[in-house]
Amino acid sequence: MILNTDTHESVNATDVLARQRHAFLNEDVPTLKQRKARLAKLRAAVGAYREELEEAVSQDFGHRSRHETGILELMVIIQSINYLSRNLRRFMKPERRHVSLFYRAGSAHVEFQPLGVVGIMAPWNYPVSLTLIPLATALAAGNRAMLKPSELTPETSEVIRRMMVETFTAEEVSVVLGGPEVGAAFSRLPLDHLFFTGSTQVGRKVMNAASENLVPVTLELGGKSPVIIGRGHVNSRNMDNIVFGKLSNGGQTCVAPDYALVHEDDLESFVTEYSTSVSRFYPQGPTSQDYTSIVNDQHYQRLTGLIKEAREQGAKVIETGFEPETAVSRQRTLAPTLIVGASDDSAIMEEEIFGPVLPIRTYRHLDEVIQYVNDRPRPLALYYFGERDGDCDRVLQRTTSGNVGINNTIMHVAQEDLPFGGVGQSGMGTYHGIEGFRTMSHAKGVFSQGHWNLPSLVRAPFGRFAEFALA
Ligand code: NAD
Repeated sequence: MILNTDTHESVNATDVLARQRHAFLNEDVPTLKQRKARLAKLRAAVGAYREELEEAVSQDFGHRSRHETGILELMVIIQSINYLSRNLRRFMKPERRHVSLFYRAGSAHVEFQPLGVVGIMAPWNYPVSLTLIPLATALAAGNRAMLKPSELTPETSEVIRRMMVETFTAEEVSVVLGGPEVGAAFSRLPLDHLFFTGSTQVGRKVMNAASENLVPVTLELGGKSPVIIGRGHVNSRNMDNIVFGKLSNGGQTCVAPDYALVHEDDLESFVTEYSTSVSRFYPQGPTSQDYTSIVNDQHYQRLTGLIKEAREQGAKVIETGFEPETAVSRQRTLAPTLIVGASDDSAIMEEEIFGPVLPIRTYRHLDEVIQYVNDRPRPLALYYFGERDGDCDRVLQRTTSGNVGINNTIMHVAQEDLPFGGVGQSGMGTYHGIEGFRTMSHAKGVFSQGHWNLPSLVRAPFGRFAEFALA
């Protein structure tokens, strides 16, 4: 394993973990000021490396505009760091808890203690933010961190490594580079917490490996996030919101709408309005500056395979917005595609799509929609477009998903004060907001006994006291 150290030598991850843990145990718990200073260093590094990061991500993807990386990754990181810094004093404050009369004049409180060394494993789709936001959270909570970015974005991972070497000591933050084998070894380390973002399949393996050492895990996973459009709510504003969430980053977003549930009377207008929004957002079709390529050939072929299978099974495949003759003019650019009439057991309706392809399933009654969602694994996000009325409440109450967006898509991720995470097969545990700080902290309950209180009477022999207490 190649790790950053102050001397840049290759070292074993186990040794780095030992060094970080030794430093954690032998230094004082970082103060508010020290934590804020670390966050400030991280923010400055993101600023200093901005161009390199934007360039590296674009190289890794084949094409991703620097503006898209700037807005969807770097801006979100800076906002997250600022939010943590501004609220850290409040987060760190011990919480007083209730003490019943019987235990007075004792006092009880909860202290939020750093866990120690947190491992952070990241995926390729937002390779900067999904590494650095968990890192900011870990540092805010006073931890050391070992990062394992994705091997599928090697240029970006290398820039992150250099950034960390320049910004932090190896005892504070280290970077481990490598593929699935390194990931497997990383997830076996006896860390104090393992924070994993990636696929459900790998998440299962990671949790299995972590359980050997009883390392607690947070799993930020994927799945199929539905977008439900209430009857009569296909309009240009709603379609803009859906196209934004679906096609940002070429559809390679964990919380992108995976499939649409549209009332059968609205199907035609959905297709028309969706295509209009696509043309407005990407006027130069596949050569539009902000249209991101599919990350590699394997994923490109996987996506074209899903479309091909759906077509062969009789579904209608509609390429939207882009003129066919320009459809292959940039490396691994896949035209935004709608699929109508795919069968429920086709791969496109069963697997997470993770690309600019949106299958549409029509419904007659909202109850069908609720049942369809509930018959499947619990999604990471669920979107509802319509009035804030009884139908909306019914969907909210009767379905379970990591998060919900009403009349928007993916924007819940940017709400710093909301917990973000999955449920069931889309993940466990949350971050962002105070929940992120608490995920990376140990909530230690402390009871302190006063001089005079009843428990001091509770001593063997218990007989007389038991008669009194249970009377
Ligand atoms: P992935 O699971 O293939 O890889 C994630 C990380 O795990 C990488 O660092 C990789 O090197 C490592 N890894 C791969 N195989 C491993 C193994 N056998 N053992 C241990 N580690 C291993 O995920 P990906 O393809 O990089 O990312 C896409 C997936 O991530 C999608 O499913 C997407 O929905 C999900 N995702 C979730 C969120 C979220 O916040 N919930 C965010 C982004 C992506």
